[in-house]
Amino acid sequence: MSEFKLADRLATLPPYLFAEIDRLKQEVAAQGVDIISLGIGDPDLPTPDFIIDALYEAAKKPVNHQYPSYVGLLTYRQAVADWYKQRFNVDLDPEKEIVSLIGSKEGIAHFPLAFVNPGDLVLVASPNYPVYPVASGFAGADVQIIPLTDENDFLPDLNAIDNDTWKKAKIFFINYPNNPTAATATAEFYEKLVEKAREFNVIIVQDAAYTEVYYDDNNKPLSIMETPGAKDVAIEFHSLSKTYNMTGWRCGMAVGNPTLVAGLGKIKENVDSGIFQAVQEAGIAALKHGEPHVEGFRKIYKERRDCVIEALHKINISCRVPEASIFVWAKTPEGYSSSDFVSKLLRETGVVVTPGNGFGAPGEGYFRISLTVDTDRLKEAVSRISKL
Ligand code: PLP
Repeated sequence: MSEFKLADRLATLPPYLFAEIDRLKQEVAAQGVDIISLGIGDPDLPTPDFIIDALYEAAKKPVNHQYPSYVGLLTYRQAVADWYKQRFNVDLDPEKEIVSLIGSKEGIAHFPLAFVNPGDLVLVASPNYPVYPVASGFAGADVQIIPLTDENDFLPDLNAIDNDTWKKAKIFFINYPNNPTAATATAEFYEKLVEKAREFNVIIVQDAAYTEVYYDDNNKPLSIMETPGAKDVAIEFHSLSKTYNMTGWRCGMAVGNPTLVAGLGKIKENVDSGIFQAVQEAGIAALKHGEPHVEGFRKIYKERRDCVIEALHKINISCRVPEASIFVWAKTPEGYSSSDFVSKLLRETGVVVTPGNGFGAPGEGYFRISLTVDTDRLKEAVSRISKL
């Protein structure tokens, strides 16, 4: 039997911190415990029917059975431009400033290959979606974690980053509304960041996957592209996944600086062949006509959020009230590490939450609850937690 060794880039990946939780979950389930999983960031609500109908109609057209264009149908990119204009009042050129993605994860994972050489420095605001450091590492980058703290509203403290670091940095990954902390970014923060990035020639990658899950119509999350000068330095990743409950459809976009968009497009030209055109047509329908449905989803998430927050506060678990995202980021009780608390919760109540340190060292001392189960199950989960 031949022996095959994994490439160093895989062999040196940090251990998968959720593996122990997965094992424990199986152990507890095997004892007949009814498991409630609040660990998954995947919306439980179905995709609206009109989007499925649009897919069905588009799938019947033979022209859609061939290879799609790797940058995406111009009509899809135009629909993205129209949506950005209507939602954020941002003008985008669909020919040069938008590329379609097979979900934003795909684009984020490929982006460093376009701009990072081995040994380049990449900054990652953390706790973080794990793809940023992993994809940067695959491209040979040295990754430096920029911690997000409660005291700084989970925004990176830009003044704490010294000039040497700014000079060396090639890319700075940020994500607002943030997974896992649920923090949102202010216009002032984006202005400062864009100013620094322009001064030091750093690429800003902003992951905007959760901008449409917000709880206050008068305080909607921003796009970094609303910031003057952002197009000089930034690319923003977005997706239909969380907005329209379309995680399985794999339909996203990157927008912004034309050189950054073109660089990502060049990688994609060489590694994939774009999104199934029928999915793009369904995506156009979602972007054009989805808003009334999204309003309904927001109401459901708000009810869930309020139920969780009320219960956590009652039992003195400290957490902020999220303004956006499908997550609640809570502090573990005194004396418990993230892993200890999550294991105890699972063993004693059958409720699965995600340990904060799974999103990087700055997440230690926290756990994440996903609002992706219905209110009755959430109520059951919080009632079990409160009896702990
Ligand atoms: N960005 C963040 C912060 C996420 O949490 C996720 C998925 O969970 C993604 C991006 C990827 O989303 P998709 O590839 O479905 O667009």
